[in-house]
Amino acid sequence: MTINQSDHNAGDPLQNQIVEIRKRIRVAAEMSGRNESDISLMAVTKAVPVDRVNCALQAGIDLIGENRVQEFLSKFPSYQTNQEQIHFIGHLQKNKVKKILDKVSMIESVDSISLAEEINRVAKMQNKKMPILLEVNIGREETKFGFLSEQIIPALEHLSEFPNIKVVGLMVIPPKNTGNYYFKKMQQLYLDISGKNMDNIDMSYLSMGMSEDYQIAIECGANIVRVGTAIFGKR
Ligand SMILES: *Cc1c(COP(=O)(O)O)cnc(C)c1O
Repeated sequence: MTINQSDHNAGDPLQNQIVEIRKRIRVAAEMSGRNESDISLMAVTKAVPVDRVNCALQAGIDLIGENRVQEFLSKFPSYQTNQEQIHFIGHLQKNKVKKILDKVSMIESVDSISLAEEINRVAKMQNKKMPILLEVNIGREETKFGFLSEQIIPALEHLSEFPNIKVVGLMVIPPKNTGNYYFKKMQQLYLDISGKNMDNIDMSYLSMGMSEDYQIAIECGANIVRVGTAIFGKR
């Protein structure tokens, strides 16, 4: 694909896609009795050239989501935004935490206690408290990362004692083509945890829903949707 200045003009398909997705978000929000402004649209940038990501930022997406440390580090200096708008959403190796912690405002893909511990350690050195989401392997899939649902509460109890991280919600990638079944399970887990009022734990974000199913996810309470293909086209 050639990238040129005209990509920034109105009539860019990317801009139209985003307008269309916003419309669908509004409808899904209304169906669940919420306001569209409560839902953040994240553009997932893996394998997408920097210029296209910058177009999406100009077109008004709320967040960008990064999966791969090396790719992110090479694109980061050219992004026309700052860390406030960037979340990390991919599997993160512990030895890479220090490379990204000052470049993102949230790590959504915390899938083990030891990763959380390392984030806590690096955040302490950087003198901050890092917001994180716990990734849930809701479909108990061997190929996926994340805590099993019954591991979440014990993990939260443990993590609530770490002073330099703050768990602010849950993230999930459910099994494909399973409708609202796993999204509903996630909504229940999220509400159960909220009801416990645990120290240093805030259930503010439920990150779920991708190109194929973000409307269903919103109807089940998602307030961050992570959309790649429907914005940028096929990878
Ligand atoms: C790629 C990816 C997405 C977006 O997937 P699409 O189907 O392209 O919308 C969302 N979340 C995560 C964690 C991803 O890796």
